[in-house]
Amino acid sequence: MKSTHPTPMLGLYIHIPFCKRKCDYCDFYSVAEDGALMDRYITALCAHLKETAPFAKHHVVDTVYVGGGTPTLLGAKRLVVVLKTVQKYYALSKDVEITIEANPDSAQDFRMLRSLRRAGCNRISLGMQSAHDSELEAVGRIHTMAQVTTAVEAIRKAKIKNLSLDLIYGLPNQTPDQWQQSLAAAVALKPQHLSCYGLKLEENTPLFNRRDTLTLPDEEVQAKLYLDTVSYLAAAGYGQYEISNFAQESHRSRHNMKYWTLGEYAGFGPSAHSDFGDVRYGYVRDIEGYIQGVLGDGDFVSETTHLTESDRDTEYLMLGLRTVEGIDGKVFERRFRRNFNCFLPFLTQCNEAGYVVEDQGRWYLTPQGFLVSNQIIGGLLDVLSEDKLRRADAKARGDYRIIP
Ligand code: SF4
Repeated sequence: MKSTHPTPMLGLYIHIPFCKRKCDYCDFYSVAEDGALMDRYITALCAHLKETAPFAKHHVVDTVYVGGGTPTLLGAKRLVVVLKTVQKYYALSKDVEITIEANPDSAQDFRMLRSLRRAGCNRISLGMQSAHDSELEAVGRIHTMAQVTTAVEAIRKAKIKNLSLDLIYGLPNQTPDQWQQSLAAAVALKPQHLSCYGLKLEENTPLFNRRDTLTLPDEEVQAKLYLDTVSYLAAAGYGQYEISNFAQESHRSRHNMKYWTLGEYAGFGPSAHSDFGDVRYGYVRDIEGYIQGVLGDGDFVSETTHLTESDRDTEYLMLGLRTVEGIDGKVFERRFRRNFNCFLPFLTQCNEAGYVVEDQGRWYLTPQGFLVSNQIIGGLLDVLSEDKLRRADAKARGDYRIIP
């Protein structure tokens, strides 16, 4: 008899930790490009993909995301080996989304991109960041706007139809007009998807270390840049679906949606994280440690947390509020067997302040709300902790009227 149980879906994240040069603001794990190290890494990565596959034998992989670092630095040959390994050992859905991240300077050759498309890649996420060479240079990016244009042409010529562009607002010396020009230049390239991130000064990065010498927009200007972005992109046909992400109809990043909707994903590579089989785990931020661990017998897992469904209530609130779908009282109660009513006074206050909207039991942030999402999420988590304490107290007293 055929099982009626739905097949669980899985996303794969594959980290490629190589960059030509480190950008001044970046704290992702990556090392300098080195052909011999790349070859050893691909051997380890493919061995790891193969040995993990039996744990995913009941899953169908519906998204693969090759991120970095700069995956396209590997060149077509190595990337095709990785994609073929995935296809050989995992069951992929017919409409699997396979994204590869690229930087403009390493995505100039349409033949390389065509090889990737033939090996299954159907989406490119390109790090454009700005249309102004001076802004790119100010944060240590090594490409130019002319290379962005050539890369987009090469992607189109290679017949990869789904394109996402990454942009950063709030760059040093950037004026609101310049940001507007970057946005317009990005839209003119007709991508299906745009990610717009506010510049963050991450500790221990070169940009952080010279923060006192930088001219950065203050909080008010940064907020205006964000709100202008949301309305400009909406008018250009890009609906916001997450704090920093915008897409044309049916082109949301299915892989990233997994992170925000508590879907399962398995990561590979140094610093990659997974949420798979009720375990959250991560690998060391050290390429040699990772290679040794996979091919030898070293330990390359850096953290492991076992989770039950009820442990996920916090994440449901935190991640759900990042998306325009928000959080749903009924879903919360059904999934976590907890009462949603405790949140209502706080959410009502946020609603009156214009930060939150309620629609048939679903609560989601407005663009103004996204600007203060950390405070709103923090407020909800405080309510959740207080409620848990109150219930634990009641249980200790033997008062079962308010449990669960
Ligand atoms: S190319 Fe990307 S991953 Fe590499 S340093 Fe720059 S921002 Fe970081």
